[in-house]
Amino acid sequence: MAKLAHIGLGSNLGDRKAILDGAVAQLQQTPELIVRSVSTYHETKPVGGPAGQGPFLNAAAVLETTLEPITLLHRLQEIEADAGRVRTVHWGERTLDLDVLLFGDEIIHTPELSVPHPRMGVRRFVLVPLEETTPDARDPLTGRSISELRANLDRRPSYLALKGWWEHPEKSPAYLRIVRELDGIGLSLRESLQLDDSHDCPLAVRFEPYELLERMVQWLDSRHWSGLGDQWLITDFSLREILLNVASHWTANWETQFWSLIARWNEQLPMPIQPTFLVYGIRSWGGPRDAEYNYLSRDLPCLRLESKAIDEEASEILTACAATRT
Ligand code: ADP
Ligand code: MG
Repeated sequence: MAKLAHIGLGSNLGDRKAILDGAVAQLQQTPELIVRSVSTYHETKPVGGPAGQGPFLNAAAVLETTLEPITLLHRLQEIEADAGRVRTVHWGERTLDLDVLLFGDEIIHTPELSVPHPRMGVRRFVLVPLEETTPDARDPLTGRSISELRANLDRRPSYLALKGWWEHPEKSPAYLRIVRELDGIGLSLRESLQLDDSHDCPLAVRFEPYELLERMVQWLDSRHWSGLGDQWLITDFSLREILLNVASHWTANWETQFWSLIARWNEQLPMPIQPTFLVYGIRSWGGPRDAEYNYLSRDLPCLRLESKAIDEEASEILTACAATRT
């Protein structure tokens, strides 16, 4: 059965318009797919990667295809290779980048292919063309539509939540670097609670749990932050993570506790500011804590870090922050 696939196109080398036109033509000549629509081409600043790169032309296309997702990826890679061979002097330099953004409502995590595209929700240059073609298409991970994801990036202030960073004293320099380079405002749980480097004792044991939560909610009260304009707010924790932390202290049945906390919250507490996106580290899928992670990431755009070194993580995060604005 045919499915709708959304793909992203980008080029920043050579005759960019001709390269994108050529890629669309090649897609049209592929027997197992129909090109339903193509966005206009958007010029964008390059984010990440080596300095001195030229601007990109970005676009999105909607395909109807009977190909399997992995076969579609291979077809896109052939088209990328063709563009590279024809147009580049320097072998291997990227003239054309084709990404699978969405494939129906499928969620795929394999070493070769991740769908939805892992950084789609934090990239303005991906969402803006995509919104032109299909504003109502849904991201199956967050349940949000493309328009909602784009509007999330336009929301101010932007808020970056670094899940679990307060637990790692060795991440403090990277946290400070992020705050500095974004010229943002940092709220540090580690600093505020004066956590020392050894903390085998859970938060909810050391602090009165409701007091802890209310303190954080006051910090994150959206009314405090409405005047920040284009500045970033950065925290070394996520509020949901602290909720989970507190909830699982009371009972093994953290799920029920979690929702009763949320209910209490909705009645009594001010609205906390929602993260623009949540950052969490590498972890394998299918582990025993998956359910908890699902609660944390549920309906929030996430950046799952791929780097191993802390300083690389900081660079990856800064690139993602830049992409939300580009
Ligand atoms: P970028 O992340 O900037 O698009 P590349 O195009 O060089 O970088 O990355 C290509 C790699 O990403 C390929 O090896 C491919 O297997 C992998 N990949 C994983 N998920 C996807 C996806 N949804 N679309 C395209 N490539 C993907
Ligand atoms: Mg790619």
